Amino acid sequence: MLIERLNRRWGRVRLPKLGWVTFRISHPLGGVVRSATVSRDGNHWYVSFVVDDGKTTPKEHAWPDPGVDRGVVVAVACSDGWMRDRRFTTRGEIKRHRRLQQKLARQKKGSASRRQTLAAMRSIRGRERDRRADFCAWTAHRLTERNALVVLEDLRTRNMTRNAKGTVEQPGSNVKAKAGLNRSILGRGWWQLATALKGRAHYSGTTVVEVPARFTSQTCSACAAVDPGSREGQARFRCTHCGHTMNADVNAARNILAAGLAVTACGDLDAGRSVKQEPAGNREELLLQPT
Ligand SMILES: [Zn+2]
Repeated sequence: MLIERLNRRWGRVRLPKLGWVTFRISHPLGGVVRSATVSRDGNHWYVSFVVDDGKTTPKEHAWPDPGVDRGVVVAVACSDGWMRDRRFTTRGEIKRHRRLQQKLARQKKGSASRRQTLAAMRSIRGRERDRRADFCAWTAHRLTERNALVVLEDLRTRNMTRNAKGTVEQPGSNVKAKAGLNRSILGRGWWQLATALKGRAHYSGTTVVEVPARFTSQTCSACAAVDPGSREGQARFRCTHCGHTMNADVNAARNILAAGLAVTACGDLDAGRSVKQEPAGNREELLLQPT
């Protein structure tokens, strides 16, 4: 693949079938370019390069380990009590998007005004995506810089999304509740956070471990008693056995961390090491400008 720098801000790349395409250099490309991917988001085209920067994952890391509970109420809760959440859409944007949808329903297919409406809707969705990506990158950075081990619940979000609707032969149970949950799961971008964590871990020497999400929200992190009744509400945990009270998400995070530590203590560390799962290199997205 041929890449040339045109000036400080612009470069061009020769892509198969497309020929020379100029792009805005939004990040420095340090290293040997391995591959390029072109994607579209709304009205914008992007090219991402996988770059081998020659850096290897450090062997050691000095900070303590948090477990992360990817929850619905709080996007990220840590076993040390740290939490972070962010809304990705403003009220105005949700309102505007709904209005555009109504407008779209009245417009004739293939008309120029309809295309305009669609473009406006895409730009709102694009802003939401950008904020989510920013949130995931920020959180992944914060977690990997400080921690040698990050433990995540392996929620198989993908399966949950698929199961909500079910099939014709096997209709999904609890469809409405699950659909609502799935919307909030996708809204929080759990997959994106896990991917961002694994990508960052490559540089900080952090081990990312995923543990099965079994009873983590019903188990007491103090006495290990399991009782669904201990979860008083979305946010509160009160153990029916020992009376231990705590934020429900932090309690779950502690259980996840304990499970992750058990996995790493068993010598299963290498299997969970993100560096082996992720291709070497760093992915950078650059804005494409068609010529
Ligand atoms: Zn207890």
